[in-house]
Amino acid sequence: MKIASLGSGSKGNATIVSSGSTNLLIDCGFSLRQFEKRLISLSIGPENIDAILITHEHSDHCGGVIRIAKKYDIPVWTTFGTGRAVFKSNNDFSKLSGGKLITIGSLEILPVTVPHDAGEPVQFVFRDIVSGEKFGILTDTGHITRHIVDAYNNLDGLLLEFNYDQKMLENGPYPYSLKQRVSGELGHLSNDQSVGLLQAINTSQLRCLIAAHISEKNNAHSIVKSHLEPLGHLPQPILASQDAGFDWINI
Ligand SMILES: [Zn+2]
Ligand SMILES: [Zn+2]
Repeated sequence: MKIASLGSGSKGNATIVSSGSTNLLIDCGFSLRQFEKRLISLSIGPENIDAILITHEHSDHCGGVIRIAKKYDIPVWTTFGTGRAVFKSNNDFSKLSGGKLITIGSLEILPVTVPHDAGEPVQFVFRDIVSGEKFGILTDTGHITRHIVDAYNNLDGLLLEFNYDQKMLENGPYPYSLKQRVSGELGHLSNDQSVGLLQAINTSQLRCLIAAHISEKNNAHSIVKSHLEPLGHLPQPILASQDAGFDWINI
């Protein structure tokens, strides 16, 4: 299994999960033009994408999906609550439910229900049917639940939100209401909360750790690294950027 990102952060997110000839696009908050431009650097064509999976309806995750899906005739999978918020018709998407496995090509997908201020948000854990490798994506989550700890245990790869540093958010430029939203139970994961998850799950087989959805205003790459360094047993983290995401990584 291999993964790549077209960009990660509050201005747009898109991740590609690939196994054999199966390529899945997870969210696309970039415009059709940006999507096409960013995809070129990964040497993969839009026609090679088998399906788009949407986590939730916020524009940094689904801004470009309708046009991309229409132009390249790519099927979209999402929950009923997200689909209802994004599409005009219920026929425009296939339905996912939290906890219910689906299989697309050689990837098995577990949608995981997460607390976030959206209609029916989920995040995903993928399992390569051939190799058995497991990779999880977890962003846009207000707090770590018992359910999340169970779902993200024993992974080979993890892309995890490190949205904000508590002190930077408190002292930063956001208005009070937005600070409350970001740090609330249905907001985003702080550096401390994500470290908490890494301490709660079994990471003994984790070979690939990506810090993602890092706020450009309320966090810094150096601060994320300083939070991860004390957890010495973890693989060297890769930090996803808003502008370029990250290149292909073999898990
Ligand atoms: Zn987001
Ligand atoms: Zn969101």
